[in-house]
Amino acid sequence: MQFIDLQKQYQHLKSRIDQRIQTVLDHGKYILGPEVKELEEKLSEYVGVKHTIGVANGTDALQLSLMALDVGPGDAVFTTTFTFFATAEVISLIGAHPIFVDIEEKTYNIDPNKLEKEIQTVISEGKFTPKAIIAVDLFGLPADYDAISTIAGKYRLKIIEDAAQGFGGSINGKMAGSFGDIATTSFFPAKPLGCYGDGGAVFTNDDNLAAKIISLRVHGKGTDKYDNVRIGLNSRLDTIQAAILLEKLAEFPRELELRQAVADSYRAALHNQFHVPYVPEGYASSWAQYTIRPLEGFRAEYMSILKEARIPTAIYYGKNMHEQTAFSSLNYKKCDFPVADDMARSVFSLPMHPYLDEEEIKIVINALSK
Ligand SMILES: *Cc1c(COP(=O)(O)O)cnc(C)c1O
Repeated sequence: MQFIDLQKQYQHLKSRIDQRIQTVLDHGKYILGPEVKELEEKLSEYVGVKHTIGVANGTDALQLSLMALDVGPGDAVFTTTFTFFATAEVISLIGAHPIFVDIEEKTYNIDPNKLEKEIQTVISEGKFTPKAIIAVDLFGLPADYDAISTIAGKYRLKIIEDAAQGFGGSINGKMAGSFGDIATTSFFPAKPLGCYGDGGAVFTNDDNLAAKIISLRVHGKGTDKYDNVRIGLNSRLDTIQAAILLEKLAEFPRELELRQAVADSYRAALHNQFHVPYVPEGYASSWAQYTIRPLEGFRAEYMSILKEARIPTAIYYGKNMHEQTAFSSLNYKKCDFPVADDMARSVFSLPMHPYLDEEEIKIVINALSK
């Protein structure tokens, strides 16, 4: 059994994907070829935004978003401490100051009440200028954008939605990738919509921000490629990856239904023994991960039972941002974020992908009930 079975998905889509790759090899437009534009248009339609800009990976997508919003030295950017390193890394990379925020126990996402307290603290200390919030749709569940938008409006902050995991999720039918001023996603192979290498995208409804990101992804180009009007990156989505994604995107809505069915089976069998994922009314998760916590502890024991049964598991995340060595100069203490600390000690994730069959689900459930 695989944690995420990309091979099964490829076997299912093989002839279509092979044909798409062959088409690129035949036309030879390897950099920003026609498939990139076609994919950007289809993604805009799927997500419900005006602009999609394909970029090299999800980390660059975040960095480009901060650059487009003119965030830099002296600015504070607020984000969750319970996320993948890249979310926080880009804040420091562009010279801004990361401010971490604790999470809600039920959703694992940034806690809006604690976010507002952190903003007020930064304002009262007067060392950094609050500029932006990066909210993460962790494990596939969109963050609470109603509450986050209210706070952002009150303190005049920009919102970046990190939908690397949330792509495919929604709130009352509004898709992940459409929240905030700018949203980003990743097409890393293991994400809900993944390619066969690195890839990412930026989504926005703002014409000016879109134009800036289009320039920034090609060395800050002006009207022509050798007229550089700003310092940028080399961060384009490969044509071959776009070609693969076109076929995967066509299949994606069906795959989301299959993921939901796996999640439903897990929930039905496990909710008496574990804290299973909570999905608020009106929300839909893309089930990037199926993360659980034993009601009575013993994570290590559960994981070793699964390991003996040759069922792969993973811990997302065992080390919060405020505990990372790379951020030690920020001087956070381990106990600063009690909810995230507690989660880091108790969560683990089960195999989750659209092609997990009933037999495999049964094997996981039976092993956990031992
Ligand atoms: C994967 C991920 C990223 C980074 O995406 P890459 O394409 O690997 O650069 C950023 N944020 C979150 C929450 C992620 O899960």
